[in-house]
Amino acid sequence: MGKVLTLHKNNIMNQVDYLRISLIDRCNFRCQYCMPEGAELDYLLRQQLLTNEELLTLIQEVFVPVGFNKFRLTGGEPLLRPDVVELVRAISSIPQTQDLSMTTNGFLLARMAQDLYDAGLRRINISLDSLDPETFDQIINNRGRSRWQQVWEGIQTTHRVGFDPLKLNVVVIPGINDHEVLDLAALTITRQWHVRFIEFMPIGNAHLFGDQGWVASAELRQRIRERWGLTESQIRGNGPADVFQIPGAKGTLGFISQMSECFCDRCNRMRLSADGWLRPCLLNESNQLDLRSALRAGASLAELRSQVSQLLALKPEINFKQRESGATGAYSRTMSQIGG
Ligand code: SAM
Repeated sequence: MGKVLTLHKNNIMNQVDYLRISLIDRCNFRCQYCMPEGAELDYLLRQQLLTNEELLTLIQEVFVPVGFNKFRLTGGEPLLRPDVVELVRAISSIPQTQDLSMTTNGFLLARMAQDLYDAGLRRINISLDSLDPETFDQIINNRGRSRWQQVWEGIQTTHRVGFDPLKLNVVVIPGINDHEVLDLAALTITRQWHVRFIEFMPIGNAHLFGDQGWVASAELRQRIRERWGLTESQIRGNGPADVFQIPGAKGTLGFISQMSECFCDRCNRMRLSADGWLRPCLLNESNQLDLRSALRAGASLAELRSQVSQLLALKPEINFKQRESGATGAYSRTMSQIGG
């Protein structure tokens, strides 16, 4: 089956070839912005999760044939998925896999990084919203036990094992961690780490968001520029980040500005939730496909390929282009449930 291409507004062909796969909706942290306190989180039952076999069948027989070749494992917390190392091995061994990466909170990396690397994983993004253990523990809602040190050790181990690039994801929340932006940016000066600042999104957390909002990337860049200067980096990722560098730094700074800018036209991705819902756009809930139910009801793989192809063709219309900057939507699933 041919690859599906969508038209960029400037008529540049934009290929949707990147699938973010949530392995599990559970997490060992409870970040305020992702799994807000009090939010009704009905965790999936084991039988609702795609099995390893179902997931691998979908990747090999549905997603690869319609043109997906970049995969990111996420969650919830992907390292809580039983057999995650085996899944990594299986996905990295698919000949068409051009890129396999993972987004994790890093809590289990100190003991798992080497096994993941040996299984074929090379790229990791670790969420680190604060360098201050107290702030960090407050954000992740640690319930009495500090987790910062173990995450920091996970980051060091990941670096030692050889993951490259190693990226640190920071969701910037006004009044909570925005005063740490310079300290976090400074990590890239002497280390070949890549820090990416993400604008806080109102997904499944409208109340919290309403109180606090987001900080525009341009403002963060200005603060960094005033301190050290800032140049546009030659290094580009395959995602929506605008990449910059402190002059002379070993690593880079990425800015993901989905609230202050709209990059829907260059969106190259879809998301598969742990229970098998394929979501064509993070910022709205329309046109999702329930692949798990279809698979279990006996739909043929040819039928599923055709449904996903049709969705790919529709994606330019589904992309949330018309949204106002900073618009909030009504989302029934939190990021932890969608697979961020
Ligand atoms: N548990 C893993 C982790 O912590 O990285 C993977 C899942 S988490 C949902 C993936 C990413 O989504 C994290 O970097 C997290 O900070 C980000 N995220 C979650 N909720 C968000 C929100 N409301 N706005 C922006 N980013 C968010």
